[in-house]
Amino acid sequence: MKKIVVLTGAGISAESGLKTFRDSDGLWENYRIEDVATPSAWEKNPSLVVEFYNIRRQQALKAKPNAAHSALVKLEKKYDVQIITQNIDDLHERAGSKNVLHLHGEIMKCRSSKDSDLVFPTKNDGLKMGDICPKGSQLRPHVVWFGEMVPELPHAAEFTSQADILIVVGTSLVVYPAAGLLDMAPHPIRKYYIDPNAQPRNNINNLHIIAEKATKGVPELVEKLLEK
Ligand code: NAD
Repeated sequence: MKKIVVLTGAGISAESGLKTFRDSDGLWENYRIEDVATPSAWEKNPSLVVEFYNIRRQQALKAKPNAAHSALVKLEKKYDVQIITQNIDDLHERAGSKNVLHLHGEIMKCRSSKDSDLVFPTKNDGLKMGDICPKGSQLRPHVVWFGEMVPELPHAAEFTSQADILIVVGTSLVVYPAAGLLDMAPHPIRKYYIDPNAQPRNNINNLHIIAEKATKGVPELVEKLLEK
């Protein structure tokens, strides 16, 4: 079976009602990224960080997978599909995708702020200050903040380097190191980039731009790939 790697960003969930932040003037739902999604934000004002992610979690719980998430599941009929998502929502899993790697963590989980291996599902009513891990440290959202290491990057790079086809959906490709994955795909393979604002990349060989929204561009490409 041929291997397809699909790299997704906030744009694939936009039509499920979850906003990207670059589409709203650098603010993420009216919060400044520096105030809620960095290690120094956590040091300065952990309550605000916890509140921000509790709201994101509530929004994600209400959202439903859209036609783009569902189309990617259909690809599994004919291909070995690995999703690599920058999103912290769980819409790929809820659509039914089997192999999903979250580069930037998962909003439905929390972890110890001292030992990153201690990961737990977040309780239904959200995370609270004073919720501690078994080792006694405050639980934090299980997400990768700006300026933090991306522990899943080596796995993502390995999958990408073995791909026969690469599909990139709904990402501005400005957040590194995720954006750098494109360079790790084998030079000759076909690469598709679906995003209404996709910009050409002269350094990437064999890149086909599909300047469409995810719910149109992804199902159309999936149909084509299934016909092949
Ligand atoms: P980004 O905000 O930098 O870029 C979003 C991209 O989506 C843009 O290129 C835009 O043109 C495109 N887009 C907008 N609507 C679209 C649609 N309907 N169909 C296809 N594409 C569309 O997002 P990013 O590059 O993913 O990186 C931002 C970071 O923010 C990520 O690390 C992610 O963790 C986080 N984030 C996550 C969520 C989520 O989990 N749903 C939402 C917002 C931000």
